[in-house]
Amino acid sequence: MSVKIGIPRGLWFYDYFPLWKTFYEALGAEVIVSDITNKAILNQGVKNTVDEACLPVKIFNGHVLALKDKVDYIFVPKIMSVYEKEYICPKFCGLPEMVKHSIANLPPMIDIEINFNKSRKSLIKTIYLFGSYVTKNPIRIRTAYLKALEEYNKYKEAMKAGYIPIDGYLQKDQSKLNIKPKTRIAAIGHSYQLFDSYGSMSLIKKLQKENIEVVIPESLNMKSINNLASSLEKKMFWSYGRKTLGTALHYTKNKDIDGIVYISSFGCGIDSVIEDIFERWARKSNIPFLLLTVDEHTGEAGINTRLEAFIDMIDWRLNNEGNLSTHG
Ligand code: SF4
Repeated sequence: MSVKIGIPRGLWFYDYFPLWKTFYEALGAEVIVSDITNKAILNQGVKNTVDEACLPVKIFNGHVLALKDKVDYIFVPKIMSVYEKEYICPKFCGLPEMVKHSIANLPPMIDIEINFNKSRKSLIKTIYLFGSYVTKNPIRIRTAYLKALEEYNKYKEAMKAGYIPIDGYLQKDQSKLNIKPKTRIAAIGHSYQLFDSYGSMSLIKKLQKENIEVVIPESLNMKSINNLASSLEKKMFWSYGRKTLGTALHYTKNKDIDGIVYISSFGCGIDSVIEDIFERWARKSNIPFLLLTVDEHTGEAGINTRLEAFIDMIDWRLNNEGNLSTHG
């Protein structure tokens, strides 16, 4: 019988899922992914996480709970850094410990550290450690990893080609479906919030329903985002922050969009710095900017009203007065 590995549909999932799924399946494991986020998952997460945690961490814990009695191992890597000389949010670094202390009776956890600040030799060892939960054969692990890397690169290319991983399923945006969109809006946020329909209150779907072409940070070339981010006076050491600021610089310089919606999580330390800078740049460039900060108590009706007003304001600017204030 094959080993069952549970992958929670939260946090790093939206960035790396194809890589880890392919890796473990190529090794012969059965990969079980938790369902798309729903009310029950969120409620369980909220009940089993410290109040101070951000919404994405609460959602992640809900997904772990949904998997806990169905699998042999739960995949919760300890992600310290995914780029050299950068770090990920501390919540990612301490995720295995947070999960272990929040949820009782968990199956064994695959909690190996991923740290790109360490040597190449240590990264290779990391891959073998991840694979060792299924096989001790290094050749099989290497082959599986190369296959996984290929899938991961395809996933990134698909996003550049206009696909959006809503709830983890790649979907083509409207402009590629030959429906002429009336407006182009950049939807920005951390992948695990932006692409989680429940966590983002279906932000992308709502925009697309209004016949708006949605672009995401992943639609852009990461090399050019990194180059732009490196022009900042001070280096941004948080990977998600660097990606967001590079994206902001791209859109505020190129002005090839009609507006920006930034979705953020209440209590996120990184966002409290980033969103303020982002908003100032957008105003300076005269690009309409909407900040939506959500937590588990946010009501959908309030989000809908703000989004509708924002879209109306953009339409008005496009059709009537271009000098209308960018924030209503
Ligand atoms: S970056 Fe912000 S939203 Fe993401 S896990 Fe950290 S605190 Fe939460």
